[in-house]
Amino acid sequence: MTDQSFRSNYACVVGGAGPAGMGFLFNAYKTGALASLARSGLLVVDAALAVGRGRLGDYHITANSVGDVFLDCLRDPALLPIFAPLEHSAAFRRLRDDPHGAPMLTQVGELLAHASTLFMRYVTQHLGVEVALGTRIEKITAQGDGSFQLALRSGSCSWQVDAGGLVLNLGGRQNREYLHWSLAEQDLHLAHDGPIVYSSDALLSLSPAELVELFGDRVTSDSQFTVVGGSHSAFSVLDNLACALDCLGLERLTLMHRAPIRLFFESVEEALAAGYRVDEGMDVCPVSGRVNRSGGLRYRAHQVGTDVLANGHVSGTRVKVELLRLADRSPATRERLEQCCSEPGVMVQAIGYQPCLPAMRHANGEPLQVRESKGGLDSDAAGCLRDFNGQPIPGLYSFGLGSGLAANPMLGSERSFDSRIYGVWQFHHDASGRVIEALQEHLAGQTQQSREQALDAPLDGTPFVLSALG
Ligand SMILES: Cc1cc2nc3c(=O)[nH]c(=O)nc-3n(C[C@H](O)[C@H](O)[C@H](O)COP(=O)(O)OP(=O)(O)OC[C@H]3O[C@@H](n4cnc5c(N)ncnc54)[C@H](O)[C@@H]3O)c2cc1C
Repeated sequence: MTDQSFRSNYACVVGGAGPAGMGFLFNAYKTGALASLARSGLLVVDAALAVGRGRLGDYHITANSVGDVFLDCLRDPALLPIFAPLEHSAAFRRLRDDPHGAPMLTQVGELLAHASTLFMRYVTQHLGVEVALGTRIEKITAQGDGSFQLALRSGSCSWQVDAGGLVLNLGGRQNREYLHWSLAEQDLHLAHDGPIVYSSDALLSLSPAELVELFGDRVTSDSQFTVVGGSHSAFSVLDNLACALDCLGLERLTLMHRAPIRLFFESVEEALAAGYRVDEGMDVCPVSGRVNRSGGLRYRAHQVGTDVLANGHVSGTRVKVELLRLADRSPATRERLEQCCSEPGVMVQAIGYQPCLPAMRHANGEPLQVRESKGGLDSDAAGCLRDFNGQPIPGLYSFGLGSGLAANPMLGSERSFDSRIYGVWQFHHDASGRVIEALQEHLAGQTQQSREQALDAPLDGTPFVLSALG
């Protein structure tokens, strides 16, 4: 560990060095933009003591993409010398030896963390990129000229830096209010003495043994476990609960879902051969011909979804799955939906993520509100966030978990998918690529004079912060 002091003004601050923030940095290095950003002042800030892993490596589930998709993010010739030591990484070798299999996310997290540490060591030593780990962004003030002031805290030390542009990917969270609101839309309300609610994020981070420890004494022949959602996370929760609690006698899980269960297929022919009904206008990506390309269940979640739809069981277990469609108004289904919300038991919220954002203000002290969109935050095609009135906030970019990007018509998606797209490959390619271009344009537009003045600003009050990269 080394002590390091920071200056007070940067051309760009990258807030959050999880898979999305690192995707931006890797891509900026590949395109040559990182060197010029670093020359003008580039600070990477993360609350964790290590880079690259984010939350992804915490999930005890299978990825929704094959190993080669993650390896592709590290494959550029410009990165080869930096990543040579990955040969000694067990996670790297595992993915490389089975590139067409879907790996466990714990392995993916290990690989991304190792690669990101190697990368940050290189760019801090050779390009002058600065890094503040163990440091939280607590407050952001938009100065009104496209630049920002950030209040940072590391332990008991707090200080401020100015940034000409801000790439903000601080991850997502699952607000309880969002669950209440989604249920209320269907005239459903959680009773005070009803189920105990858990987030899918918390449960997916538990090993089978930890799930047994948490729920072991609540499993009876008629215990009620309800999962709310219909995506990769929801089916992964069904899978993990069924596999962990089957041996304790768990008989049934209930899935409350809004949209139809959608499965991914490489082509319409493959879907039809599997007996899956395809709405060609809504479910097929016009660019790739794939079925439910953005919103369909893949790999292990696909297997669980297929078995649940076909025979009502989680594959490989004796646990049955009851499907309850939220919009189903038949008396029998309504009765079951109301029971799930009112009777004691467990309910798991797996209906997406809301963004983690620090307090944001205008220079005059008024709150800066960013506009939400289904599945994330509203942004323009370049990932520039929009304010409450729909106007882009110049210089503020986000595309990671809780934000995402709208589907790009050039790259394709299915019409039935109306949420936001995010994933590691996108972070390293399309999503960050658009931000890099827009950020460079934004910084070029800020006057040379103001940047020079700012770079000469005094260093008063800049504390020492521990860097864990050494
Ligand atoms: C259950 C689940 C499964 C997924 N599976 C896949 C998959 O198989 N394949 C795929 O490509 N994608 C997958 N994703 C999507 C996505 O790749 C991951 O969610 C990924 O972790 C998102 O990266 P991120 O950097 O946006 O957020 P995070 O991983 O949450 O990282 C956020 C970073 O910001 C830092 N931070 C937070 N607050 C602050 C603050 N105030 N100041 C400074 N730093 C802060 C954190 O320390 C962290 O390092 C999955 C998502 C989920 C939820």
